[in-house]
Amino acid sequence: MEPVLNFINGAFVPSTSGATIDTINPATGEVLTTLPRSNAEDVNEATRAALAAGPSWASTSMADRIAWLHRIADALEAESETIAMLESQDTGKPIALARRVDAARSVANFRFFANYAQEQEPETFSDHGAINYVHRSPVGCVGLITPWNLPLYLLTWKVAPALLMGNTIVAKPSELTPLTAHFLAKTIHAVGLPDGVFNVVNGYGPDVGQPMVEHPDIRGISFTGGTATGKIVAATAAPMFKKLSLELGGKNATILLDDAPLDEVMDGIVRASFTNSGQVCLCGSRILVHASIYDSFVERFVEAVEAIHVGDPMLEETGMGSVISLEHKTKVESYIDLGLDEGAILLTGGTSKVAPVDNVPTRGAFLRPTVLAGLSPSSRTATEEIFGPVVTVHPFESEDEAVTLANLTEYGLAGSVWTADIERGHAFAKRMDTGIVWVNTWLNRDLRTPFGGVKQSGVGREGGTWSMAFFSETTNICVQQP
Ligand code: NAD
Repeated sequence: MEPVLNFINGAFVPSTSGATIDTINPATGEVLTTLPRSNAEDVNEATRAALAAGPSWASTSMADRIAWLHRIADALEAESETIAMLESQDTGKPIALARRVDAARSVANFRFFANYAQEQEPETFSDHGAINYVHRSPVGCVGLITPWNLPLYLLTWKVAPALLMGNTIVAKPSELTPLTAHFLAKTIHAVGLPDGVFNVVNGYGPDVGQPMVEHPDIRGISFTGGTATGKIVAATAAPMFKKLSLELGGKNATILLDDAPLDEVMDGIVRASFTNSGQVCLCGSRILVHASIYDSFVERFVEAVEAIHVGDPMLEETGMGSVISLEHKTKVESYIDLGLDEGAILLTGGTSKVAPVDNVPTRGAFLRPTVLAGLSPSSRTATEEIFGPVVTVHPFESEDEAVTLANLTEYGLAGSVWTADIERGHAFAKRMDTGIVWVNTWLNRDLRTPFGGVKQSGVGREGGTWSMAFFSETTNICVQQP
Protein backbone atom coordinates (compact mmCIF):
# COMPACT_ATOMS: atom_id res chain seq x y z
CA MET A 1 0.00 0.00 0.00
CA GLU A 2 1.31 3.50 -0.85
CA PRO A 3 2.38 5.65 2.12
CA VAL A 4 -0.09 8.13 3.56
CA LEU A 5 1.09 11.73 3.07
CA ASN A 6 -0.01 15.09 4.37
CA PHE A 7 -2.16 17.13 1.98
CA ILE A 8 -1.15 20.77 2.13
CA ASN A 9 -2.01 23.46 -0.40
CA GLY A 10 -3.11 20.89 -2.98
CA ALA A 11 0.10 18.81 -2.73
CA PHE A 12 0.83 15.45 -1.11
CA VAL A 13 3.90 15.89 1.10
CA PRO A 14 5.79 14.02 3.83
CA SER A 15 6.23 15.57 7.27
CA THR A 16 8.83 18.34 7.37
CA SER A 17 10.94 16.19 9.72
CA GLY A 18 10.63 13.17 7.42
CA ALA A 19 9.57 11.03 10.40
CA THR A 20 6.85 8.43 9.94
CA ILE A 21 4.56 6.20 12.01
CA ASP A 22 3.45 2.68 11.07
CA THR A 23 -0.25 2.06 10.68
CA ILE A 24 -1.33 -1.46 11.53
CA ASN A 25 -4.22 -3.69 10.54
CA PRO A 26 -5.46 -4.68 14.00
CA ALA A 27 -7.10 -7.86 12.72
CA THR A 28 -3.79 -9.26 11.44
CA GLY A 29 -1.09 -7.29 13.24
CA GLU A 30 0.47 -6.48 9.84
CA VAL A 31 1.88 -3.05 9.02
CA LEU A 32 -0.33 -1.59 6.27
CA THR A 33 1.80 1.45 5.46
CA THR A 34 3.29 4.55 7.07
CA LEU A 35 1.93 8.00 7.78
CA PRO A 36 3.81 11.25 8.39
CA ARG A 37 4.77 11.96 11.98
CA SER A 38 4.10 15.68 11.68
CA ASN A 39 4.66 18.48 14.16
CA ALA A 40 3.84 22.17 14.70
CA GLU A 41 5.82 23.17 11.60
CA ASP A 42 3.53 21.09 9.38
CA VAL A 43 0.48 22.54 11.13
CA ASN A 44 1.82 26.03 10.47
CA GLU A 45 2.27 25.28 6.77
CA ALA A 46 -1.21 23.83 6.45
CA THR A 47 -2.68 26.81 8.31
CA ARG A 48 -0.82 29.25 6.04
CA ALA A 49 -2.29 27.47 3.01
CA ALA A 50 -5.78 27.48 4.51
CA LEU A 51 -5.55 31.19 5.36
CA ALA A 52 -4.33 32.06 1.87
CA ALA A 53 -7.20 30.13 0.29
CA GLY A 54 -9.75 31.62 2.70
CA PRO A 55 -10.86 34.87 1.04
CA SER A 56 -11.42 33.33 -2.38
CA TRP A 57 -13.31 30.32 -0.98
CA ALA A 58 -15.39 32.53 1.31
CA SER A 59 -16.43 34.62 -1.68
CA THR A 60 -17.83 31.68 -3.67
CA SER A 61 -21.60 31.55 -3.70
CA MET A 62 -23.58 29.11 -1.61
CA ALA A 63 -24.82 27.55 -4.86
CA ASP A 64 -21.23 26.91 -5.94
CA ARG A 65 -20.31 25.35 -2.63
CA ILE A 66 -23.37 23.12 -2.77
CA ALA A 67 -22.23 21.99 -6.22
CA TRP A 68 -18.76 21.19 -4.79
CA LEU A 69 -20.32 19.08 -2.05
CA HIS A 70 -22.29 17.10 -4.62
CA ARG A 71 -19.14 16.60 -6.71
CA ILE A 72 -17.27 15.22 -3.70
CA ALA A 73 -20.26 13.00 -2.79
CA ASP A 74 -20.40 11.64 -6.36
CA ALA A 75 -16.68 10.87 -6.38
CA LEU A 76 -16.81 9.15 -2.99
CA GLU A 77 -19.91 7.19 -3.96
CA ALA A 78 -18.16 5.84 -7.04
CA GLU A 79 -15.44 4.47 -4.71
CA SER A 80 -17.65 3.15 -1.90
CA GLU A 81 -16.10 -0.29 -2.06
CA THR A 82 -12.56 1.16 -1.79
CA ILE A 83 -13.62 3.21 1.22
CA ALA A 84 -15.17 0.17 2.92
CA MET A 85 -12.05 -1.90 2.26
CA LEU A 86 -9.66 0.78 3.57
CA GLU A 87 -11.78 1.38 6.65
CA SER A 88 -12.07 -2.33 7.41
CA GLN A 89 -8.30 -2.85 7.08
CA ASP A 90 -7.47 0.19 9.19
CA THR A 91 -9.93 -0.52 12.03
CA GLY A 92 -10.54 -4.29 11.98
CA LYS A 93 -14.29 -3.75 11.57
CA PRO A 94 -16.33 -6.16 9.39
CA ILE A 95 -16.36 -5.23 5.72
CA ALA A 96 -20.16 -5.51 5.68
CA LEU A 97 -20.39 -2.93 8.48
CA ALA A 98 -17.86 -0.65 6.78
CA ARG A 99 -19.98 -0.73 3.62
CA ARG A 100 -23.30 -0.21 5.36
CA VAL A 101 -22.20 2.44 7.85
CA ASP A 102 -18.83 4.05 7.09
CA ALA A 103 -18.87 4.23 3.30
CA ALA A 104 -22.56 5.00 3.00
CA ARG A 105 -22.58 7.71 5.67
CA SER A 106 -19.47 9.43 4.32
CA VAL A 107 -21.26 10.01 1.02
CA ALA A 108 -24.51 10.88 2.81
CA ASN A 109 -22.82 13.57 4.91
CA PHE A 110 -21.86 15.57 1.80
CA ARG A 111 -25.17 14.88 0.10
CA PHE A 112 -27.21 15.81 3.17
CA PHE A 113 -25.56 19.18 3.79
CA ALA A 114 -25.73 20.06 0.08
CA ASN A 115 -29.46 19.35 -0.03
CA TYR A 116 -30.31 20.74 3.38
CA ALA A 117 -28.64 24.08 2.66
CA GLN A 118 -31.08 24.57 -0.19
CA GLU A 119 -34.06 24.16 2.12
CA GLN A 120 -33.02 26.93 4.51
CA GLU A 121 -35.18 30.03 4.70
CA PRO A 122 -33.55 33.44 5.27
CA GLU A 123 -33.73 34.51 8.91
CA THR A 124 -35.45 37.92 8.89
CA PHE A 125 -37.49 39.87 11.42
CA SER A 126 -39.23 43.20 11.13
CA ASP A 127 -40.28 45.56 13.91
CA HIS A 128 -40.13 49.26 14.82
CA GLY A 129 -40.08 50.14 11.11
CA ALA A 130 -36.82 48.24 10.55
CA ILE A 131 -35.89 44.94 8.97
CA ASN A 132 -33.36 42.68 10.67
CA TYR A 133 -31.68 39.84 8.89
CA VAL A 134 -29.03 37.34 9.91
CA HIS A 135 -25.92 37.33 7.77
CA ARG A 136 -23.67 34.30 8.08
CA SER A 137 -19.97 34.54 7.28
CA PRO A 138 -17.36 31.78 7.61
CA VAL A 139 -15.45 31.35 10.86
CA GLY A 140 -12.26 31.28 8.77
CA CYS A 141 -9.69 28.50 9.03
CA VAL A 142 -11.11 25.71 11.21
CA GLY A 143 -9.41 22.69 12.77
CA LEU A 144 -11.14 19.31 12.63
CA ILE A 145 -9.83 16.60 14.96
CA THR A 146 -11.29 13.10 14.78
CA PRO A 147 -11.00 9.66 16.45
CA TRP A 148 -10.43 6.14 15.10
CA ASN A 149 -13.77 4.41 15.55
CA LEU A 150 -15.63 5.86 12.54
CA PRO A 151 -12.77 7.60 10.74
CA LEU A 152 -14.25 8.89 7.47
CA TYR A 153 -17.83 9.00 8.77
CA LEU A 154 -16.89 11.47 11.53
CA LEU A 155 -14.41 13.47 9.46
CA THR A 156 -16.90 14.08 6.64
CA TRP A 157 -19.57 14.97 9.24
CA LYS A 158 -17.38 18.01 9.94
CA VAL A 159 -15.79 18.64 6.52
CA ALA A 160 -19.11 18.92 4.66
CA PRO A 161 -20.70 21.70 6.79
CA ALA A 162 -17.34 23.47 7.22
CA LEU A 163 -16.91 23.71 3.43
CA LEU A 164 -20.56 24.56 2.92
CA MET A 165 -20.31 27.57 5.21
CA GLY A 166 -17.20 28.87 3.42
CA ASN A 167 -14.43 27.84 5.81
CA THR A 168 -11.04 26.45 4.94
CA ILE A 169 -9.84 23.40 6.81
CA VAL A 170 -6.90 21.85 8.59
CA ALA A 171 -7.92 18.27 9.44
CA LYS A 172 -6.16 15.84 11.74
CA PRO A 173 -7.34 12.23 11.60
CA SER A 174 -6.49 9.71 14.30
CA GLU A 175 -2.93 8.42 13.99
CA LEU A 176 -4.42 4.90 14.25
CA THR A 177 -6.66 5.26 11.18
CA PRO A 178 -5.23 7.64 8.55
CA LEU A 179 -6.17 5.73 5.37
CA THR A 180 -9.58 7.16 4.53
CA ALA A 181 -8.66 10.79 5.35
CA HIS A 182 -5.86 10.32 2.81
CA PHE A 183 -8.39 8.87 0.38
CA LEU A 184 -10.66 11.86 0.96
CA ALA A 185 -7.75 14.21 0.23
CA LYS A 186 -7.06 12.34 -3.03
CA THR A 187 -10.75 12.53 -3.94
CA ILE A 188 -10.95 16.25 -3.19
CA HIS A 189 -7.76 16.80 -5.21
CA ALA A 190 -9.17 14.83 -8.13
CA VAL A 191 -12.42 16.80 -8.27
CA GLY A 192 -10.35 19.99 -8.32
CA LEU A 193 -11.33 21.83 -5.16
CA PRO A 194 -9.08 24.93 -5.03
CA ASP A 195 -5.67 24.37 -3.39
CA GLY A 196 -5.49 25.14 0.32
CA VAL A 197 -9.22 24.87 1.00
CA PHE A 198 -8.86 21.39 2.50
CA ASN A 199 -5.62 20.30 4.20
CA VAL A 200 -4.74 17.18 6.19
CA VAL A 201 -1.91 16.90 8.71
CA ASN A 202 -1.16 13.45 10.12
CA GLY A 203 0.54 12.48 13.36
CA TYR A 204 0.10 12.11 17.09
CA GLY A 205 -2.37 14.22 19.06
CA PRO A 206 0.11 16.17 21.20
CA ASP A 207 2.36 16.83 18.14
CA VAL A 208 -0.37 17.90 15.69
CA GLY A 209 -3.73 18.31 17.44
CA GLN A 210 -2.30 20.41 20.25
CA PRO A 211 -0.54 22.95 17.94
CA MET A 212 -3.77 23.19 15.94
CA VAL A 213 -5.73 24.06 19.07
CA GLU A 214 -2.99 26.51 20.12
CA HIS A 215 -2.70 28.16 16.69
CA PRO A 216 -4.08 31.73 16.92
CA ASP A 217 -5.23 31.71 13.28
CA ILE A 218 -7.31 28.53 13.57
CA ARG A 219 -10.48 30.20 14.77
CA GLY A 220 -12.66 27.18 15.47
CA ILE A 221 -12.02 23.62 16.61
CA SER A 222 -14.45 20.78 16.12
CA PHE A 223 -13.16 17.89 18.18
CA THR A 224 -14.50 14.35 18.52
CA GLY A 225 -12.66 12.03 20.87
CA GLY A 226 -12.22 11.04 24.48
CA THR A 227 -13.26 13.18 27.46
CA ALA A 228 -9.70 13.35 28.86
CA THR A 229 -8.41 14.79 25.56
CA GLY A 230 -11.45 17.06 25.31
CA LYS A 231 -10.50 18.62 28.65
CA ILE A 232 -7.02 19.48 27.32
CA VAL A 233 -8.53 20.91 24.12
CA ALA A 234 -11.03 22.99 26.10
CA ALA A 235 -8.39 24.28 28.53
CA THR A 236 -6.16 25.32 25.63
CA ALA A 237 -8.84 26.90 23.45
CA ALA A 238 -10.99 28.66 26.06
CA PRO A 239 -8.60 31.57 26.88
CA MET A 240 -8.33 32.23 23.13
CA PHE A 241 -12.16 32.42 22.83
CA LYS A 242 -12.13 29.98 19.93
CA LYS A 243 -15.34 28.48 18.70
CA LEU A 244 -15.30 25.01 20.18
CA SER A 245 -17.42 21.94 19.59
CA LEU A 246 -16.60 18.94 21.79
CA GLU A 247 -18.12 15.51 21.09
CA LEU A 248 -16.74 13.28 23.83
CA GLY A 249 -17.12 9.92 25.55
CA GLY A 250 -20.16 8.15 26.91
CA LYS A 251 -21.43 5.33 29.09
CA ASN A 252 -24.87 4.96 27.65
CA ALA A 253 -27.76 3.09 29.21
CA THR A 254 -30.13 0.71 27.43
CA ILE A 255 -33.32 0.45 29.48
CA LEU A 256 -35.91 -2.30 29.13
CA LEU A 257 -39.18 -1.42 30.86
CA ASP A 258 -41.33 -4.28 32.17
CA ASP A 259 -43.49 -4.38 29.03
CA ALA A 260 -40.58 -4.51 26.53
CA PRO A 261 -41.44 -7.21 23.97
CA LEU A 262 -38.25 -9.26 24.23
CA ASP A 263 -38.48 -11.10 20.92
CA GLU A 264 -39.01 -7.89 18.97
CA VAL A 265 -36.38 -5.79 20.71
CA MET A 266 -33.55 -8.32 21.11
CA ASP A 267 -31.90 -7.59 17.77
CA GLY A 268 -31.81 -3.86 18.55
CA ILE A 269 -30.34 -4.45 22.02
CA VAL A 270 -27.59 -6.68 20.63
CA ARG A 271 -26.76 -4.11 17.95
CA ALA A 272 -26.70 -1.30 20.52
CA SER A 273 -24.30 -3.36 22.63
CA PHE A 274 -21.79 -4.72 20.14
CA THR A 275 -21.84 -2.81 16.84
CA ASN A 276 -18.24 -2.09 15.81
CA SER A 277 -17.05 -4.19 18.79
CA GLY A 278 -18.81 -1.75 21.12
CA GLN A 279 -16.58 1.03 19.79
CA VAL A 280 -19.34 3.47 18.88
CA CYS A 281 -19.70 6.41 21.26
CA LEU A 282 -23.46 5.72 21.21
CA CYS A 283 -23.28 2.02 22.12
CA GLY A 284 -25.32 1.04 25.16
CA SER A 285 -22.85 -0.51 27.55
CA ARG A 286 -25.11 -0.61 30.64
CA ILE A 287 -28.31 -2.61 30.21
CA LEU A 288 -30.95 -1.89 32.83
CA VAL A 289 -33.77 -4.45 32.88
CA HIS A 290 -36.97 -4.52 34.92
CA ALA A 291 -36.69 -7.29 37.52
CA SER A 292 -39.85 -9.01 36.26
CA ILE A 293 -38.27 -9.76 32.86
CA TYR A 294 -34.60 -9.86 33.95
CA ASP A 295 -34.10 -13.65 33.94
CA SER A 296 -35.78 -14.24 30.63
CA PHE A 297 -33.98 -11.25 29.07
CA VAL A 298 -30.57 -12.47 30.24
CA GLU A 299 -31.16 -15.97 28.93
CA ARG A 300 -32.20 -14.77 25.45
CA PHE A 301 -29.61 -12.00 25.30
CA VAL A 302 -26.70 -14.32 26.09
CA GLU A 303 -27.94 -16.75 23.46
CA ALA A 304 -28.13 -13.96 20.85
CA VAL A 305 -24.68 -12.61 21.80
CA GLU A 306 -23.10 -16.05 21.53
CA ALA A 307 -24.52 -16.31 18.00
CA ILE A 308 -22.45 -13.31 16.80
CA HIS A 309 -19.74 -14.55 14.46
CA VAL A 310 -16.44 -13.07 15.65
CA GLY A 311 -13.50 -13.29 13.28
CA ASP A 312 -11.98 -12.27 9.95
CA PRO A 313 -13.42 -8.82 9.04
CA MET A 314 -13.20 -9.69 5.35
CA LEU A 315 -15.76 -12.49 5.62
CA GLU A 316 -19.32 -11.45 4.80
CA GLU A 317 -20.77 -13.44 7.70
CA THR A 318 -18.56 -11.75 10.32
CA GLY A 319 -20.63 -9.77 12.81
CA MET A 320 -17.73 -8.57 14.95
CA GLY A 321 -14.12 -8.02 13.92
CA SER A 322 -11.18 -7.00 16.08
CA VAL A 323 -10.89 -4.01 18.38
CA ILE A 324 -8.70 -1.12 17.24
CA SER A 325 -5.31 -2.28 18.59
CA LEU A 326 -3.58 -4.74 20.87
CA GLU A 327 -3.09 -1.87 23.32
CA HIS A 328 -6.83 -1.19 23.36
CA LYS A 329 -7.53 -4.92 23.73
CA THR A 330 -5.35 -4.91 26.86
CA LYS A 331 -7.32 -1.91 28.20
CA VAL A 332 -10.66 -3.64 27.57
CA GLU A 333 -9.39 -6.85 29.19
CA SER A 334 -8.25 -4.88 32.22
CA TYR A 335 -11.86 -3.73 32.62
CA ILE A 336 -13.13 -7.32 32.36
CA ASP A 337 -10.66 -8.27 35.12
CA LEU A 338 -11.71 -5.23 37.13
CA GLY A 339 -15.37 -6.23 36.75
CA LEU A 340 -14.58 -9.72 38.06
CA ASP A 341 -12.64 -8.18 40.97
CA GLU A 342 -15.66 -5.98 41.67
CA GLY A 343 -17.80 -9.11 41.98
CA ALA A 344 -19.19 -9.59 38.45
CA ILE A 345 -20.55 -12.88 37.17
CA LEU A 346 -19.23 -13.59 33.67
CA LEU A 347 -22.27 -14.60 31.61
CA THR A 348 -20.40 -14.97 28.32
CA GLY A 349 -17.11 -13.90 26.72
CA GLY A 350 -14.19 -12.80 28.86
CA THR A 351 -10.53 -12.02 28.29
CA SER A 352 -8.80 -13.82 25.42
CA LYS A 353 -7.19 -16.21 27.93
CA VAL A 354 -10.61 -17.33 29.13
CA ALA A 355 -12.48 -17.10 25.81
CA PRO A 356 -10.07 -17.08 22.85
CA VAL A 357 -11.39 -16.36 19.35
CA ASP A 358 -10.71 -19.31 17.01
CA ASN A 359 -9.06 -19.13 13.60
CA VAL A 360 -7.69 -15.58 13.85
CA PRO A 361 -4.05 -14.42 13.57
CA THR A 362 -2.21 -14.53 16.90
CA ARG A 363 -1.35 -10.83 16.57
CA GLY A 364 -4.98 -9.90 15.86
CA ALA A 365 -6.70 -7.80 18.55
CA PHE A 366 -9.77 -10.02 18.96
CA LEU A 367 -12.12 -10.33 21.91
CA ARG A 368 -15.41 -12.13 22.36
CA PRO A 369 -18.48 -10.05 23.19
CA THR A 370 -18.62 -10.06 26.96
CA VAL A 371 -21.61 -9.78 29.28
CA LEU A 372 -21.14 -9.14 33.01
CA ALA A 373 -23.90 -9.35 35.62
CA GLY A 374 -24.16 -8.90 39.37
CA LEU A 375 -22.21 -5.64 39.55
CA SER A 376 -23.20 -2.63 41.58
CA PRO A 377 -24.53 0.02 39.14
CA SER A 378 -22.07 2.44 40.74
CA SER A 379 -19.04 0.15 40.30
CA ARG A 380 -16.18 1.43 38.16
CA THR A 381 -16.91 -1.20 35.48
CA ALA A 382 -20.51 0.00 35.23
CA THR A 383 -19.75 3.73 35.19
CA GLU A 384 -16.42 4.23 33.33
CA GLU A 385 -16.23 4.20 29.54
CA ILE A 386 -14.66 0.94 28.33
CA PHE A 387 -15.30 1.52 24.60
CA GLY A 388 -15.11 -2.16 23.73
CA PRO A 389 -17.29 -5.28 23.47
CA VAL A 390 -18.27 -5.37 27.16
CA VAL A 391 -21.71 -4.72 28.63
CA THR A 392 -23.02 -4.94 32.16
CA VAL A 393 -26.62 -5.94 33.00
CA HIS A 394 -28.51 -4.70 36.04
CA PRO A 395 -32.06 -5.33 37.30
CA PHE A 396 -34.30 -2.50 38.57
CA GLU A 397 -37.61 -2.52 40.45
CA SER A 398 -39.27 0.77 39.45
CA GLU A 399 -39.08 3.40 36.72
CA ASP A 400 -37.83 5.94 39.24
CA GLU A 401 -34.96 3.62 40.12
CA ALA A 402 -34.24 3.08 36.41
CA VAL A 403 -34.04 6.84 35.83
CA THR A 404 -31.65 7.21 38.77
CA LEU A 405 -29.44 4.39 37.48
CA ALA A 406 -29.51 5.67 33.89
CA ASN A 407 -28.28 9.07 35.09
CA LEU A 408 -25.72 7.65 37.50
CA THR A 409 -22.57 8.29 35.42
CA GLU A 410 -20.60 11.45 34.77
CA TYR A 411 -21.42 11.04 31.06
CA GLY A 412 -24.58 12.06 29.23
CA LEU A 413 -24.32 11.27 25.54
CA ALA A 414 -27.15 8.91 24.57
CA GLY A 415 -29.46 6.14 25.69
CA SER A 416 -32.30 3.95 24.53
CA VAL A 417 -35.59 2.92 26.15
CA TRP A 418 -37.52 -0.16 25.06
CA THR A 419 -41.22 -0.50 25.82
CA ALA A 420 -44.50 -1.58 24.21
CA ASP A 421 -46.09 1.67 25.44
CA ILE A 422 -44.92 4.68 23.45
CA GLU A 423 -46.32 7.11 26.04
CA ARG A 424 -44.13 5.55 28.72
CA GLY A 425 -41.21 5.81 26.31
CA HIS A 426 -41.76 9.56 25.82
CA ALA A 427 -42.05 10.15 29.57
CA PHE A 428 -38.94 8.12 30.41
CA ALA A 429 -36.87 9.73 27.64
CA LYS A 430 -37.54 13.22 29.03
CA ARG A 431 -36.09 12.23 32.40
CA MET A 432 -32.74 11.14 31.00
CA ASP A 433 -29.75 13.47 31.29
CA THR A 434 -28.44 12.82 27.79
CA GLY A 435 -28.27 14.64 24.47
CA ILE A 436 -29.98 11.81 22.57
CA VAL A 437 -32.58 9.23 23.58
CA TRP A 438 -33.97 6.56 21.29
CA VAL A 439 -37.29 4.84 22.05
CA ASN A 440 -37.48 1.30 20.64
CA THR A 441 -34.64 1.96 18.20
CA TRP A 442 -30.92 2.68 18.23
CA LEU A 443 -28.54 4.64 16.00
CA ASN A 444 -31.53 5.78 14.00
CA ARG A 445 -30.13 9.06 12.71
CA ASP A 446 -31.94 11.89 10.98
CA LEU A 447 -29.09 14.23 10.05
CA ARG A 448 -31.26 17.33 10.65
CA THR A 449 -31.39 16.63 14.39
CA PRO A 450 -29.04 17.97 17.09
CA PHE A 451 -26.25 15.56 18.00
CA GLY A 452 -24.13 15.91 21.13
CA GLY A 453 -23.89 15.24 24.81
CA VAL A 454 -24.32 16.79 28.23
CA LYS A 455 -22.15 16.53 31.37
CA GLN A 456 -18.74 14.99 30.54
CA SER A 457 -19.94 13.91 27.07
CA GLY A 458 -19.33 17.28 25.53
CA VAL A 459 -20.31 20.82 24.76
CA GLY A 460 -22.34 21.97 21.78
CA ARG A 461 -24.38 20.19 19.13
CA GLU A 462 -23.62 19.14 15.58
CA GLY A 463 -26.05 18.17 12.80
CA GLY A 464 -28.34 20.15 10.50
CA THR A 465 -28.58 23.82 11.37
CA TRP A 466 -26.46 23.29 14.50
CA SER A 467 -23.44 22.41 12.33
CA MET A 468 -24.19 25.29 10.01
CA ALA A 469 -24.32 27.65 12.99
CA PHE A 470 -21.08 26.28 14.44
CA PHE A 471 -19.20 26.73 11.19
CA SER A 472 -20.34 30.33 10.72
CA GLU A 473 -20.31 33.67 12.49
CA THR A 474 -23.64 35.45 12.56
CA THR A 475 -24.10 39.17 12.14
CA ASN A 476 -27.49 40.73 12.66
CA ILE A 477 -28.01 43.53 10.14
CA CYS A 478 -30.78 45.97 11.07
CA VAL A 479 -31.90 48.25 8.23
CA GLN A 480 -34.23 51.24 8.29
CA GLN A 481 -35.16 53.51 5.39
CA PRO A 482 -33.50 56.96 5.78
P1 NAD B 1 -8.66 10.50 21.67
O1 NAD B 1 -9.20 11.57 22.54
O2 NAD B 1 -7.51 9.70 22.18
O3 NAD B 1 -8.21 11.07 20.27
C1 NAD B 1 -9.07 11.80 19.43
C2 NAD B 1 -8.24 12.67 18.51
O4 NAD B 1 -7.60 13.67 19.29
C3 NAD B 1 -7.12 11.92 17.79
O5 NAD B 1 -6.99 12.42 16.48
C4 NAD B 1 -5.91 12.27 18.63
O6 NAD B 1 -4.68 12.17 17.93
C5 NAD B 1 -6.21 13.70 18.99
N1 NAD B 1 -5.50 14.24 20.16
C6 NAD B 1 -4.87 13.57 21.16
N2 NAD B 1 -4.31 14.43 22.03
C7 NAD B 1 -4.61 15.68 21.59
C8 NAD B 1 -4.33 16.99 22.07
N3 NAD B 1 -3.62 17.21 23.18
N4 NAD B 1 -4.81 18.04 21.38
C9 NAD B 1 -5.55 17.85 20.27
N5 NAD B 1 -5.83 16.64 19.76
C10 NAD B 1 -5.36 15.56 20.40
O7 NAD B 1 -9.89 9.55 21.34
P2 NAD B 1 -9.85 8.18 20.54
O8 NAD B 1 -9.27 7.13 21.44
O9 NAD B 1 -9.27 8.40 19.20
O10 NAD B 1 -11.42 7.91 20.35
C11 NAD B 1 -12.22 7.26 21.28
C12 NAD B 1 -13.03 8.25 22.09
O11 NAD B 1 -13.79 9.08 21.22
C13 NAD B 1 -14.03 7.59 23.00
O12 NAD B 1 -14.01 8.22 24.26
C14 NAD B 1 -15.36 7.84 22.31
O13 NAD B 1 -16.49 7.86 23.17
C15 NAD B 1 -15.12 9.17 21.70
N6 NAD B 1 -16.05 9.42 20.60
C16 NAD B 1 -17.04 10.34 20.78
C17 NAD B 1 -17.94 10.58 19.76
C18 NAD B 1 -19.05 11.58 19.92
O14 NAD B 1 -19.63 11.95 18.92
N7 NAD B 1 -19.35 12.04 21.12
C19 NAD B 1 -17.82 9.89 18.55
C20 NAD B 1 -16.80 8.96 18.42
C21 NAD B 1 -15.91 8.74 19.44
